[in-house]
Amino acid sequence: MNRQEVHIVGAGPSGLAAALYLARAGLKPVVFEQAHDIGARFHGDFQGLENWSTGEEVTEMLAALGIERNFRCVPNDTGAVFGPSGQRTDLNTERPLFYLVERGNGPASLDRGLKRQAEKAGAEFRFGVRMEEAQADKVIVATGPRTPSAVARGLVFETSHPDGFYAFLGDHLAPQGYAYMLVHEGRATLATCLFEEFDRAQSHFEQTLRTALDVIEFDIHAPQSFGGYVDFGLRRPWTRNDRFYYVGERAGLQDALWGFGLRYALRSGMLAARAIAMGEDYGALVEEHLVGRLKSSLANRVLFNRLGNHGYGWALQRLSSVDVVSLLQRHHQPSSAKDVLYDIGRRLHPTRRERACGKETCSCLWCECGAADDHTSPCEDVRTAGESAS
Ligand SMILES: Cc1cc2nc3c(=O)[nH]c(=O)nc-3n(C[C@H](O)[C@H](O)[C@H](O)COP(=O)(O)OP(=O)(O)OC[C@H]3O[C@@H](n4cnc5c(N)ncnc54)[C@H](O)[C@@H]3O)c2cc1C
Repeated sequence: MNRQEVHIVGAGPSGLAAALYLARAGLKPVVFEQAHDIGARFHGDFQGLENWSTGEEVTEMLAALGIERNFRCVPNDTGAVFGPSGQRTDLNTERPLFYLVERGNGPASLDRGLKRQAEKAGAEFRFGVRMEEAQADKVIVATGPRTPSAVARGLVFETSHPDGFYAFLGDHLAPQGYAYMLVHEGRATLATCLFEEFDRAQSHFEQTLRTALDVIEFDIHAPQSFGGYVDFGLRRPWTRNDRFYYVGERAGLQDALWGFGLRYALRSGMLAARAIAMGEDYGALVEEHLVGRLKSSLANRVLFNRLGNHGYGWALQRLSSVDVVSLLQRHHQPSSAKDVLYDIGRRLHPTRRERACGKETCSCLWCECGAADDHTSPCEDVRTAGESAS
């Protein structure tokens, strides 16, 4: 019997998770990726699979999704946060705050591990193909963020500093956002993540670097810049013409509080694949499993925006005496108060229109730092497979 072919546009975590599920379900996923390898948007930088948005531990979530941990995935339960005036708060957690993963095309990266699993299950890959016109009856559009809701600018480097995790709060470092440093086995990622003043990302990063060097002693070797952006503008409808299924950041399924989109990318990719394989309603699955917590994340963003430097100091004092993961988990629970704040958040952070990108001359973060060697950046104002055929 012929296996049903499903096209997946984009080999990020959402597309790879979808490919894995479909191949295991006996369908024939073909993944089209415009870059020449997976993970081209990243540079070996460390990210965190957050462990607070639900009671489900990251390891349980991965197991439930059928994802093996054949990539670097390190639980992290000790860390410190520095407030605007440099005061340090050590975090207390009973369970890991996050699991450190590596992004990019390295052998231990999340992207490489997912690809290996999908390939082993029977998924096909076509690299260097920018998909504009879909041919299959079912198409999963996993093309990543379309427009910046928040931007990040940072450095990956080698260091002799011991393993650790540090966060920094302060409007001079990351307006309405945060900066972070993750160190693991001699490599480090230091970045600022801003929700305002995008045009000043470089100067905020320089300030972050100075501050980090002041409060933590570390050396820097072989530095490499990176940057990018995230998109949390929820984009309904989740499907179009019973043919196109929008997943991950392409659909704006991204945490609006701090930009931790990986769990949503993996889960939405799997849900779209499940809907196709089992004849279920993808829109209903997204609403049931993801939207409640995403709405809470936007409500939390409204609250976080109001903190400012004064509020950060107050919040850090509170953090010093509570279990951080439990506190964050409580704040991610949907509620009627969160619904009201969510409505305010939607007005403050409307889903933005796609930005245009000037190809060769473009100096947007993606073109400068992302998968844009061939100037086929996903932030171009092109129609993706989803739009072109409808
Ligand atoms: C600097 C930075 C730090 C981050 N840190 C964290 C973190 O610590 N924790 C966390 O949970 N999240 C983090 N995120 C967010 C996380 O990386 C994303 O949420 C996640 O990668 C989204 O996955 P995705 O599959 O939806 O999209 P992407 O990972 O963007 O993948 C989309 C893929 O589609 C390809 N593509 C686009 N258009 C086409 C086309 N027309 N044809 C073919 N291919 C196409 C792109 O080249 C890309 O490979 C961070 C993001 C950034 C930028």
